[in-house]
Amino acid sequence: MRAPRVLVAMDRHQEWYTDLIENHYEEARQKVEEVLADTEVDENGCMVTPTDQPRKLRFRGHQDRAYRFVYCIRHRLPATRDQVVRHRCHNRLCVNPRHLDIGDRRDNLLDERDRRANGVDWGLI
Ligand SMILES: [Zn+2]
Repeated sequence: MRAPRVLVAMDRHQEWYTDLIENHYEEARQKVEEVLADTEVDENGCMVTPTDQPRKLRFRGHQDRAYRFVYCIRHRLPATRDQVVRHRCHNRLCVNPRHLDIGDRRDNLLDERDRRANGVDWGLI
């Protein structure tokens, strides 16, 4: 009997992003531009989607939050499930690539605590 093949520890989203970045990059970039075009810029420079919840998008058989898609495609980064795309502006409807950053869940909690204590430092963004 053959030994079971050891699967590379990639989750489904990571595989999806890897495929997009390697094989469908131009199309994915186009999709990012569409998302960014369908926003309103507020006084903080946030590019806000016209949705009540963080916008979701569907692309080549998968769905993800638009801000995560924007970040991963722009940075050619197939993020794992444990990596969260953070909003440095704390506006979850924002998809401005300059306001997004990557971290783990713990960073996200620390961000939130820092925002409550100190507010947003727009000079750093
Ligand atoms: Zn923003």
